[in-house]
Amino acid sequence: MPRKRTLKLRCPICKKVVKNSDAEFPFCSDRCKTIDLGKWASGAYVIPSPVSDADDPIRESTPEDPDEL
Ligand SMILES: [Zn+2]
Repeated sequence: MPRKRTLKLRCPICKKVVKNSDAEFPFCSDRCKTIDLGKWASGAYVIPSPVSDADDPIRESTPEDPDEL
């Protein structure tokens, strides 16, 4: 009898063990899936972006600008 390998993860919301055979994997339920989506939508997960060129003045003129010459 072949053993089917089941991957188990913990639900990122409630930490309950979820099997990859579950419909809402990696979430334990549709509820947790919705909560996670809500977190993204509300900005709870913010992807850190490096702050760069903060000291440089922003150049607003374009090469097409006649005043540039
Ligand atoms: Zn959950």
